[in-house]
Amino acid sequence: MKVIQHLNKSKSTLFSFEILPPLKGKRIESIYESIDPLLEFSPSFINVTYHREEYIYKKREGGYLEKISVRKRPGTVGICAAIINKYKIDTVPHLICGGFTKEETENALIDLQFLGIDNLLALRGDAVKTEGTFIPEPGGNEHALDLVKQVIALNNGKYLYEEDATDLSSSSSFCVGVAGYPEKHFECPNFSSDLKHLKAKVEAGAEYIVTQLFYDNEKYFSYVKMCREAGITVPIIPGIKPISNKKQLHSLPKFFHIEVPEALSDAMEKSNDDNKLKEIGIEWGINQCKELVKGGAPCIHFYTMGKSESVKRIAKEIF
Ligand code: FAD
Repeated sequence: MKVIQHLNKSKSTLFSFEILPPLKGKRIESIYESIDPLLEFSPSFINVTYHREEYIYKKREGGYLEKISVRKRPGTVGICAAIINKYKIDTVPHLICGGFTKEETENALIDLQFLGIDNLLALRGDAVKTEGTFIPEPGGNEHALDLVKQVIALNNGKYLYEEDATDLSSSSSFCVGVAGYPEKHFECPNFSSDLKHLKAKVEAGAEYIVTQLFYDNEKYFSYVKMCREAGITVPIIPGIKPISNKKQLHSLPKFFHIEVPEALSDAMEKSNDDNKLKEIGIEWGINQCKELVKGGAPCIHFYTMGKSESVKRIAKEIF
């Protein structure tokens, strides 16, 4: 079933979560071990992230350095298919622009279609670590908007280079979600242009939005308000990641360009006890989620990042 159907059908806040493919060489069972503890909350769908290649340098004979492209977490599509097969739960693979030509994207979409996966989250992806800014693949999509347009074209039976050969019997029917940023996307000069770009993704056919993680609900509620005022009417799903250690007070703002509220950082700075720190994060998450449910969030989407314990404790209080 499509995410939008889950959202439209439900009268209460849904539960969903996101997992990362395991590091190359790890067993698929490590994925099941992170899903099993959360099954009791009946997730409506499970997202699986996509990780593009990174470049490493290997020292070769004679001392020269060889630049090698590696993908540390392959397997997004295979994991989605395995989850559907094992748990009969809908999956949402993330598909990115970075590293894909349009043709490769089309082939990936055809794979998904043949596997019976009719959801996807369309993203641009970040810059490769060794490059300062995002550089699209030659012949690839530049913005998430372009990817949304490509998927919707395929939904209408329009394949690349065969614009006139419309054969609706083989068209796809993907439900497309896109990303939104309650604290603004870090590259965008201001909120109003970020919202304009978000609106363009929705007008191109995205049916819902999942937000970047945040710790201050006021930022989510005011973002929803701004979106509505800008004419964006689709469901906006808040993304929640329980904080669990002190290091994250610095790494989360650095990697996700978000703020950790003073009350939360102060509480965490005061302790050096790992268990206590985890408890502070869980308590914050419970309060955040209770307020989000009360405020009418259509679904709460948890970023588990392979760790389900805190999410389970929060979900027990909410769902
Ligand atoms: P876009 O919508 O393309 O926006 C990127 C920037 O460009 C924004 O500043 C936007 O305002 C601007 N922009 C958009 N359109 C235009 C235009 N036409 N002209 C000028 N500027 C424009 N990354 C991964 O690699 N793998 C994942 O699995 C993954 N999952 C994610 C899941 C969620 C819920 C979120 C919120 C992010 C995820 N990301 C993932 C990270 C994401 O790829 C980055 O945040 C990326 O920097 C932006 O992606 P986007 O889809 O929002 O891009």
